[in-house]
Amino acid sequence: MTTLLNRERPPVFCPGCSHEKIVRVLDNALQQLGLSGEQVVIVTDIGCAGLFDTFFNTHAFHGLHGRALTYATGLKMADPELTVITIMGDGGLGIGGAHFLSSCRRNLDINLLILNNFNYGMTGGQCSVTTPVEAATSSGFLNQLEPPLDICRIGVAAGAPWVGRAMATDGELSAQIAEAVFYQGFSMIDIWGVCPGRYSKRNKISLKQIEKEMSLLPAASGIVPANERQEFGSHYRSLAAQVQHPGSVSGINSIFSPPVRDRCNILLLGTAGQRINTAGEILCLSAMSAGMHVTQKNDYPITVLRGHSVSEVIFSRSPVGYTGIKKPHIVIALSAEGVARRKNVFSLLDTDSLIIAADNLEIPENNARTIKIDFKALGISTPDRALASLKVLAGEGYAITEEMLYAGLANRFTGKQLNEARSLICKAGQAEKRS
Ligand code: SF4
Repeated sequence: MTTLLNRERPPVFCPGCSHEKIVRVLDNALQQLGLSGEQVVIVTDIGCAGLFDTFFNTHAFHGLHGRALTYATGLKMADPELTVITIMGDGGLGIGGAHFLSSCRRNLDINLLILNNFNYGMTGGQCSVTTPVEAATSSGFLNQLEPPLDICRIGVAAGAPWVGRAMATDGELSAQIAEAVFYQGFSMIDIWGVCPGRYSKRNKISLKQIEKEMSLLPAASGIVPANERQEFGSHYRSLAAQVQHPGSVSGINSIFSPPVRDRCNILLLGTAGQRINTAGEILCLSAMSAGMHVTQKNDYPITVLRGHSVSEVIFSRSPVGYTGIKKPHIVIALSAEGVARRKNVFSLLDTDSLIIAADNLEIPENNARTIKIDFKALGISTPDRALASLKVLAGEGYAITEEMLYAGLANRFTGKQLNEARSLICKAGQAEKRS
């Protein structure tokens, strides 16, 4: 095979930088594997190691510092045939530590080469997660406070099934990279080298001494039998193939004429458990059956079965930009908590506005026309009150018609639920007569 090096952009690093050697070693490895540039993507992030993708005639992705593995994951999931090689420095690895752990745990078929030179070279020689405590860096004494990480030990602990460690000068490195890239799963090599531009200026350390330091750590040279398992991508695809796909989305036909001339803002105010959001949804579906543009914006706390529940629904003949309501035309008020949440809107209501409210509820002063409903007397339980209020609203012919409401129900419910909703609407019809 021929080289994949980009002849128009030869590698440029500080004199003596290990990265330059690794560029050629990687090219050798790709040639050993017989890969063409179209079959490979090199993914990098920030730092001197982030220049790698520009030196090869392959696909390339260069992104934010520490995030290279996330891009690599997306690329491999989108195109399983692609050989994905991720190159990060020890700086990026520290920044994207959680992504590194996830990649080890996930076992997607991507390869990670960590160009480990014990400091942030490009930004001035600051300490990284692999800087020895005795080293001198531009970060002052900070590296004395945190011992360096053994990347390989972490990789093994996090589940990486192929873990290697090597010197950048190792004669076997290209064969090791080829083996790692060929492996069907997540593979990583922690490659130790020198940074003459920054680190070696402050630390008189030779490659021999670095190699000696490496020999004090447990060896890491390939497959980790205890971590071997099915590759994530193929596993994902086999499970996804068994999942039943949802049927096609059914459209909502526009079959009615809306009573709304231009736009209607409806505010539903209630409490968790009153099905406020469902009522808002039915309002939207009703309006859609008359060809209106609709939006719904809900507001409720993280709590379940307690706290306010507010839904803002807008119908409009033209597309809606901002989905919030400053001044409602209609307010459906069903609980004190909901009213308290939006108490300021009541003073904005004018004589054309309408309030539909539970009869025991105290409503702040306003100029709107109000319909009070005695839900208790009608035997309508708390969870059904929002839906019952829609029937009262439809009876007014103000925002929706009864036909639109029934269409909205049919678009939201089926079977027993639909029958129950229709019965409730009939029961709520009596409320109009009593109001
Ligand atoms: S700063 Fe260090 S890592 Fe960066 S190119 Fe120079 S020697 Fe290499």
